[in-house]
Formats: sequence, structure tokens, C-alpha cells
Amino acid sequence: MDTIEIAIPAWCRQPAHWVLHWLFDEVLGLPALYRTHDSEQIEIRWRGRVLTLENDFFRRHLPVWRQEGALLIDPPSQWVDVAATLAVPLERPSIPVLWGAPGLVATPHGAHLKLDVVGSIFFMLARYEEVIDAARDRYDRFPASAALAVQRGFLQRPLVDEYTDILWAALRSVWPGLTRKAVAGMMRVSCDVDEPYERWIRNPWRLAQGVAGALLRKRSPGTAATRLQNAWRSRRGDYRHDPHWTFDWYMTQLEETGNRGAFYFIATPGRTRYDCAYALEEPRMQQLLAQIAARGHEIGLHGSFNTYRDGAQLAAERQRLRAACITALADAGSRAGAAAVATAATAMATAAVPAATAAVRGNRQHYLRWDTAVTPDLLAQAGFDYDASGGFPYDPGFRHGTAREFPMWSWQKQGPLRLRQRPLMLMEAAVLSGPADAALATMVSLKRTALRYGDFNLLWHNSRFTAPGDRALFRQILDA
Ligand SMILES: [Zn+2]
Repeated sequence: MDTIEIAIPAWCRQPAHWVLHWLFDEVLGLPALYRTHDSEQIEIRWRGRVLTLENDFFRRHLPVWRQEGALLIDPPSQWVDVAATLAVPLERPSIPVLWGAPGLVATPHGAHLKLDVVGSIFFMLARYEEVIDAARDRYDRFPASAALAVQRGFLQRPLVDEYTDILWAALRSVWPGLTRKAVAGMMRVSCDVDEPYERWIRNPWRLAQGVAGALLRKRSPGTAATRLQNAWRSRRGDYRHDPHWTFDWYMTQLEETGNRGAFYFIATPGRTRYDCAYALEEPRMQQLLAQIAARGHEIGLHGSFNTYRDGAQLAAERQRLRAACITALADAGSRAGAAAVATAATAMATAAVPAATAAVRGNRQHYLRWDTAVTPDLLAQAGFDYDASGGFPYDPGFRHGTAREFPMWSWQKQGPLRLRQRPLMLMEAAVLSGPADAALATMVSLKRTALRYGDFNLLWHNSRFTAPGDRALFRQILDA
């Protein structure tokens, strides 16, 4: 039998197995056999040699983490220069030690890694601190400022991925012949469709609001005139004057740079004042859905304002978006069928599109509202394959510590979910307030870091091409 064997202490079997299974089977590409044992440490055995891993985080936290008022015990503060003991290229030579201690020591049959890689990765991926810390902002979100990564200055480092490389270096020191799977990451661009078109054009009352706002708040007669003109033209089916209706240009940029985007739609018009004012059943929205599908981009849900705690609403919104996709594609198909003599091949191709498009596999929460204790479970129950909300709105970086996709942890079940997380690293609004060259530098640096380990996941709204230079910047980050 020549498979790596991993023994986990029985008392931390679920959380440790979740981390190790992801690390070995998926990230490193080394399928392993798992069993439990009575020892306190995690043991990796192969061909008569053994690497043991420190197990500090679970030992301190697991016995208390489901109790009311659980705390982060001994929040770490030490940074070490790993190069002193291990040959591993990290983002910077010095790295924070979350749990355990620095160093790799030799043992009679292998080595012992004193850094608690598994517990620290659990802490980051499962967002432990968000469950035990009650800090919330005005939208009931866990604030970036309360995160250890922000407080200790490592949010822009993919710490989980760097810890994985430390583990890999330790494995190689015991088994020099071991090889791992190569990194094959990609850039993923996504668009939350909050306002597909200017809200002023929906009816005369809103238009009056929009014009008054332009004149009184913005003191801009030019903006007022543009809003009036857009309302007039849009009513006649000419959308070229709408600053938010950028989809054709947006998709063209993606296609020219070899990317495919994901467009997340809100499926509940105007339920709260934070949700938007459009309906998927409007003819222009139906045409948009059909175009996105025909051009090979993805359609997903933008879970509305209160869905982060409402599973029934999430499931209803997913169903409504699926139904809207199906009618949009059926209408597009019948228009195409009437206009052209379809060959058997094109008929098959158009039949394949609806199934994929209407699947609605992915979600991102509006305002990135998220409750770590329940939202992943609700999304899994609503039938989603993945979520893409895992970032902080105005603090670019790695909220989950990784650039890689991973199966999410359920605090309800105390076990893994089928739902996967594609962590968001940057939203355009986080950088657009500053100078363009600084915005580009921040985005490029994050993109390069992320692609060394996994994917670079960028959110850019269709409605954020309003300032001069926004479009050029979008193209530059695609090309970078
Ligand atoms: Zn949104």
C-alpha cells in the first residue's frame, strides 16, 4: 500500500479532516487515507517515515468554541523569518505565527513541524473570529477592522496558501522525492447588477427625483439634462445614453482578453430600500439575460439585502432567476428560429445553452452581508454550488487567507458543506476613490499575488464606469 496515511486525534477529527482533505487531495494533489488515533498530534506517515504537526489551536479552542462568550485564546503576535529553518519562498521573509511555534525539528523517523498549520488554516478558512466576535457594522457585517488579519497587517497576504507552502517544505524535507500538483489559477471577473440602468427612468416620479437630485444636491444642470435625455431615449429602446447600461462593452472587454465573466442579478425588486429597482421579467432585462448566455458568460444570483439570514427567500430568488433565464432563452430561441433556418447542429447548441445558464450555480450577497454562523448553510440548502462573497467590501485582500476555492465549513453541522467559496479579493469601489495609478498598482499587486497560488477574483459593477478613466482602468487590470 503506497498511499500517504494521516492520523488525526479523534477529538478534533471533523475540523482537522476538513482542512487536511482539502490540502492533500485538492491543493497538493496527494490523495491520503485518514484514520483517528489517541495521540495529541497529527501524524503523516509514508514509506516508513513520519511528519508530525503541532496541534495547538484545536487543543485550546475546540473544547470551548460552542460555549457562549468563547474567546480567541492567546491571539498570536509573533512574526518569524521562516527561511532560517526551511527553504520556502514566501510573499515576504517574515510571516506571522498564528498558533504553534516557529521551526521544524528532526525526529528519529522524520520531523516535527512546530507551526500549527492545520489549526491556523482552520481559523482563517472557517472565519472562527467572526463566529465568536460580536463586532458588526451598520449593515450587520463583521467589520474588517475587527479581523486579526487587519489588526496584524496581513490581510493582503494569502496566509493560508503560504502556510500550505511551509507544510509542503516540511513534507519535502522528510520525503525529498514528493511532487505536488501545479497551480492553475485564473482571473475571475464578476459584476453585481445592482442598477442595470439609471433608476430615474422607471417612472415620472423617479425621474423627478433624479432631476431634482442633480439640480439641488449635485448642482449640475448637465447631469439633470443627461438624466432627462436618457429617460426619453430609453423609453424608445435606445439605451446608449444610460451610464449604467455598459454590458455590451463590458463583455467585449472580457472576451478580447480571453476572460468570461459572471453577472449576479437581484431577483427581488424593491423589497428593501437597499435592494434595486428592476425586474428580471422586463423585456430589456430578458434580452440582457439572453445576450449574456449567448456570449458564454455566467448568470448567478445577487442575494438580496436580507437573504443572508433567510433561506426561504434565497431559494425563492434562485427559482425566480432560473425561471427568468428559461423564458429569456426560450424567447431568444424562437426569435432566432423565425429568422434563420436552423441546422441540426445549431439547434442542439441553442438547446444546450438554457440548461447551463438556467442552472444558477453561484451567488454573491448584496452589500456582502454575511453571517458566518448560518449563511453558508442557507446557500447550500438553496442549492447553490458556490458563493463568491468572501471578501471585505473596502479592504482588498484575503478575508479567508486564500486565493483558492474551497468547500465551506458549517458551524451549524460542525462539518463541511458541498457549497464552495470563491473568495472575493477586490471590489472596484475600494480603489476608485484614489488616484488612477495607485488604484492600478494595488490591483496589479493583488492580482499577481493571487495568481501565484490560485485565482484572482475581482468585482467590478456595470454601474461603475462613470468617471473619466474608469474604463481604461478596467481594461488595464484585465490586461495586467
Ligand atoms: Zn450589490
